[in-house]
Amino acid sequence: MSTRSGRCMCGTISFEVEITGDFSACHCKMCQQWASGLFMGVHTQGFRLTDGADAFTRFKSSAWAERAFCSKCGSNIYYQAVDFGHPSIALGTLDDTTGLKRTHEYYTDLEPKGLGRTDETKAMTEAEAVAFFTGGDA
Ligand SMILES: [Zn+2]
Ligand SMILES: [Zn+2]
Repeated sequence: MSTRSGRCMCGTISFEVEITGDFSACHCKMCQQWASGLFMGVHTQGFRLTDGADAFTRFKSSAWAERAFCSKCGSNIYYQAVDFGHPSIALGTLDDTTGLKRTHEYYTDLEPKGLGRTDETKAMTEAEAVAFFTGGDA
């Protein structure tokens, strides 16, 4: 178990949490609506905000779960089964994801077609993508 920090895209919300496992991916329709594609949640406990309480917003998304997000930038922070769960922290909000691996995948029958990268996909590095979006050549 290790303590890791994380933050939303705009930086208003920051937090610390204990990592208790690896991460899961979910393809359910709610996660698609929430995260565009799959939602990847890291198994944790002991979530504590270190900044941004005013923007920290929780939404009851089903009979058993709630989701937390930043009301300023919209970053998803976590999914949590309210009665028995610990937060599944949005993988991308962690400052350091070193060593974490995907151990579970849920609702795979609902996975949208075309999510995987194929030979026809134009794959770009960070530098190539920045050049592409800012008018450079890539
Ligand atoms: Zn934010
Ligand atoms: Zn889901």
